[in-house]
Amino acid sequence: MNSHELFRQYGHEQLVINQDAGANYVGIVAIHDTTLGPALGGTRLWNYATLEEAVVDALRLSRGMTYKSAVAGLPLGGGKSVVIGEPGRTDRESCFRAHGRFVDTLGGRYITAADVGTSGPDMEFIRLETRHVAGLPDKSGDPSPLTSLGVYSAMKAAAKTRWGSDSLSGKRVMVQGAGKVAWFLCELLKREGAVIFVSDIDDAKVKRVVGDFGATAVKVDAVYAQDADVYAPCALGATLNDQTIPVLKVPVVCGGANNQLQKLEHAEALAKRDILYVPDYVANGGGVINICREVEGWSEARSRAKAEGIYDTTLRVFAIASAEKVTTAVAADRLAEQRIAAVRALKPMARPNP
Ligand code: NAD
Repeated sequence: MNSHELFRQYGHEQLVINQDAGANYVGIVAIHDTTLGPALGGTRLWNYATLEEAVVDALRLSRGMTYKSAVAGLPLGGGKSVVIGEPGRTDRESCFRAHGRFVDTLGGRYITAADVGTSGPDMEFIRLETRHVAGLPDKSGDPSPLTSLGVYSAMKAAAKTRWGSDSLSGKRVMVQGAGKVAWFLCELLKREGAVIFVSDIDDAKVKRVVGDFGATAVKVDAVYAQDADVYAPCALGATLNDQTIPVLKVPVVCGGANNQLQKLEHAEALAKRDILYVPDYVANGGGVINICREVEGWSEARSRAKAEGIYDTTLRVFAIASAEKVTTAVAADRLAEQRIAAVRALKPMARPNP
């Protein structure tokens, strides 16, 4: 589908293409939906082959953010920006200050943060030009601990549904990835007495998780066939696909990685094998909760409670899936759409003049 068709089908509110030729900057901001609040979504720096490819990515990712924030119960809409360029480009001050100036022209309808190819120092350059940026190094900081807390809470809800108890004690969890989200997840799993398996292409990271939590290392290509109770994808996307689903031995999939299903149909393939899948954006909503904490000035306790609330949200998703006879992936979308529709239907009221 081309960008024009996607724009219409997804019902985006706004799409802006920005250029500052002097700064060698071309960036796109896509605002999908602001019914629930300002559109939040990171800035991705990627070497897109064409402008069309970049626009399509911005449209898809911004829509995903609407659903993620809606399901997490946040007062935020969905947006995303992409900047075209090599992820390792060195002219970062001019590039991200240019981006910040364009973000500022949107007057707060869009709030940005770090994403693939960008990090805290880039956000500091953006901050020189606009206050509509979050995830600054000295503010909400690394979102991974809260993301992992959300994944852990979702996993407990899945355990409750599958085994009648939400205890993960003795449950064998195959954690794919030994990066930031995986490490904090393993810490929580260890505390609860789960049996941890871990795999990563980086041996040093595997060793660390093995040493810190007594995990058992698994070879990268043996992850999917590992005999376990839960598969927790915490590395890369599209790991649930035609090749992997048939070999899975687990009854539950719940992890922090984004875009775990290669295609939406793979949710059906999981359901057919009676594998309970926690939709990725439900499980990993702690990351966006962490950013919301900075935007809304929430206390740490409040944001932790919100991430733990992913337990109840996951149960609601399962209940919708069961009542409406749809996959859990479709059920999560429906939950998000219900919330947006309910807020959109609020009675319009005249407000006193300020
Ligand atoms: P990270 O870079 O710290 O960790 C990712 C790990 O995956 C790395 O250690 C990498 O070596 C490993 N990896 C790459 N390919 C692999 C493979 N084929 N097999 C096994 N391991 C492999 O990243 P992270 O912040 O921990 O994020 C992990 C995932 O969670 C990503 O998909 C990310 O988009 C998603 N996510 C992260 C957050 C967050 O708060 N950090 C929030 C939401 C979603």
